[in-house]
Amino acid sequence: MIVKMKPKTTEKQVAKLINFFKEKEIEYLDISSDEYHAFRLEKTPYLKEIRAFDEVELVLPLTKRFSQISRENQAEDTVIKVKGKTIDSKTFSIIAGPCSIESEEQLIKIAKTLKKNKIGFLRGGAYKARTSPYDFQGLELAGLMMLNRIAAEYDLITVSEIPSADLIPLFEEYVDIIQVGARNMQNYHLLKALGKATKPILLKRGFGATIEEWLMAAEYLFVHGNRNIIMCERGIRTFETYTRNTLDISSVLAIKELTHLPVIVDPSHASGRYQMVEPLSLAALAVGADGIMVEIHPEPTKALSDGAQSLKPSKFTTMIEKIDQLLPLFDKKR
Ligand code: PEP
Ligand code: MN
Repeated sequence: MIVKMKPKTTEKQVAKLINFFKEKEIEYLDISSDEYHAFRLEKTPYLKEIRAFDEVELVLPLTKRFSQISRENQAEDTVIKVKGKTIDSKTFSIIAGPCSIESEEQLIKIAKTLKKNKIGFLRGGAYKARTSPYDFQGLELAGLMMLNRIAAEYDLITVSEIPSADLIPLFEEYVDIIQVGARNMQNYHLLKALGKATKPILLKRGFGATIEEWLMAAEYLFVHGNRNIIMCERGIRTFETYTRNTLDISSVLAIKELTHLPVIVDPSHASGRYQMVEPLSLAALAVGADGIMVEIHPEPTKALSDGAQSLKPSKFTTMIEKIDQLLPLFDKKR
């Protein structure tokens, strides 16, 4: 059950309801927002009494396990504001950058490509989640600081993946949008901690996660206090091996139907091949995604990670030109 209180309820009235919960030994979780007080309750025989409280506006049954992020709970689409830009259903947000931050020179070249194409978001991995311990692990703190410095110089909004909860203070300082990688989507300790973070979270779908499990991960962030969540479909593991993953394009439609959160597509990790990035990006736009996140590199063959799926600046520019031509057809701007 979700118990939602009227918007202008006083602290005293809230305390009265909490006292009632305690008196009747009703287990509750405070899920209040800036606009109203709300609680999630375990099953209770006292629903009639709770409804009778003057200040209680709504008692909602939990028909979905992800109640807070569900459309039932909020019909309008969430709008995420970050440094003067918005990520929402009226916009096609484009996030681009290298898989790994490698050097200042590499980032500057990429930042210039982004500016030339009027792209506002720069991604770059500093703490890399690599399958092999022998592969490049990222520049770590030095990379994060580099990303921050160059983004400030070129007026770009940054996105980078966080590896663990202990680094939240660092990411709060250096990054604008904190990415949760596919491998960490079900790290509930990390999700709970990020619920308290002030920065928006880009939540990638785990490659073995169902849509419901992915939504439950978002619910974790939301109930623990962070309402600025961007869902990111990045492909799932299927029996198919021709592509790195299988892009579950219909998950975009499912997310739109079930939640009020924005959802973007990562065609780079979904396919693993640069040749597929443009067509899949156009498919993302056509299916109603709120944006894409793509990997680009000045010299993909020399990339320290994911070169095979990274676009060269020239190919990236061509793709953006095509997207720009199609945006009006889908009632989107960027
Ligand atoms: C990435 O975006 O660099 C990345 C590692 O993605 P994923 O977590 O989707 O594999
Ligand atoms: Mn990558």
